[in-house]
Amino acid sequence: MLAPREELHALQRARLDSLVERARTHVPHYRDLPPHSEAHDPLEAMTATLAQIPVLEKSAYRENPESFIAADIPKRELLRGKTSGTTGTALPLWYTRETLAEEYAAVWRLRRTSGVGLRDPYISFGGQLVVPFEQSEPPFWRTNHHGGQTLFSLYHMAPRFLPAYVDAIHASPARYAVGYPSSLHLIARALLAAGRPLPRGQMAAIFTSSESLLAFHRETIEEAFQAPVRDRYGTSEFSVSMTGCPENHLHLDMEFGIVEIEAVEETEQFVRGPMLVTGLATHATPFLRYRIGDSATRLKHPCPCGRPGDVFADVDGRIEDYVVTPDGRRIGRLDHIFKEQRDVAEAQILQENPESLEVRVVPRASYGPEAERQLREEIRARLGDSIRVELRIVDTIAREPNGKFRAVKSTVKFGENP
Ligand SMILES: [Zn+2]
Repeated sequence: MLAPREELHALQRARLDSLVERARTHVPHYRDLPPHSEAHDPLEAMTATLAQIPVLEKSAYRENPESFIAADIPKRELLRGKTSGTTGTALPLWYTRETLAEEYAAVWRLRRTSGVGLRDPYISFGGQLVVPFEQSEPPFWRTNHHGGQTLFSLYHMAPRFLPAYVDAIHASPARYAVGYPSSLHLIARALLAAGRPLPRGQMAAIFTSSESLLAFHRETIEEAFQAPVRDRYGTSEFSVSMTGCPENHLHLDMEFGIVEIEAVEETEQFVRGPMLVTGLATHATPFLRYRIGDSATRLKHPCPCGRPGDVFADVDGRIEDYVVTPDGRRIGRLDHIFKEQRDVAEAQILQENPESLEVRVVPRASYGPEAERQLREEIRARLGDSIRVELRIVDTIAREPNGKFRAVKSTVKFGENP
């Protein structure tokens, strides 16, 4: 049962107040925080409380992470983690079992409402190293019989091994799949290339997370698995959670966090910009108005699916996944370049300086001069004529060491721009 919007705001407000009080009292970094607002209206109170808290930059956390640990939680109850950023150094994190339980509650609310049960078998395409890299014979997967989970290696998905994956997926009793959009997309392409999509009804849903889900990922995955894709946005800080709906929007799990948008672009329909997240379940290390590094587009009208609360069209890639033009503009959301490209299987944009970029393209059989012309046109439409563009046809696109795919990789520092 979904609580109405007003009830969610009252709940958020109560949790925010108690988090702020605990932070003021027990967290060294937040010693000087003013008390929370006493306003009657929950939204008004939250806005006032948040407004007097300074924005937390990653750099401030990196300087002294220990100063964020709440002293009222016994050390032995703290679990250790670290941020999963693909660039820069990983930051240490602390959290409690209760925080983890809340994270999983958000994950399972999504799964349950998508028709999946706790005991259902599933296949997973995360970044775990489950098979030695040198292995050149199937199986490229391992089954955890107790959890009903079969983990597939992301590091053996070469064309010559993919038919074995297709066989294994068809032989599996899995009711759902979880993983990175890019990996599930690769597998989906293999299923379709073999002319063997799964029969409709076998999978209840496909759950993607950890990377931007692009339109062509969704289309291909839904066609190959004959099941809807439900995306989720979460972070290793456990400070925000959003879950997908049948309208392909992302709904904020309101009990879990508050999201503010620093408006860069605003219309009657939406507001878009970097997110400041306040993690209402971050008991061990409160994250208040934390600039997480991702941008989002919040819609101003309720979602047609009927779920109340904050609703987002999407969350953009990491801030570093922007392209910089010679005149210093930062351009994000470049997945649109490939959105209408039926002839491109995968693509990646690499940038080392603001004057040029390289676009690596894994072509489909239908790719030809016309497709290339269209692709260049799309790029020019978004990045202008002054940037040098080198198109390179490749067989595969390398994954990051953690198995993730990055659509845009830039080493350009924003400070270096004109
Ligand atoms: Zn919705």
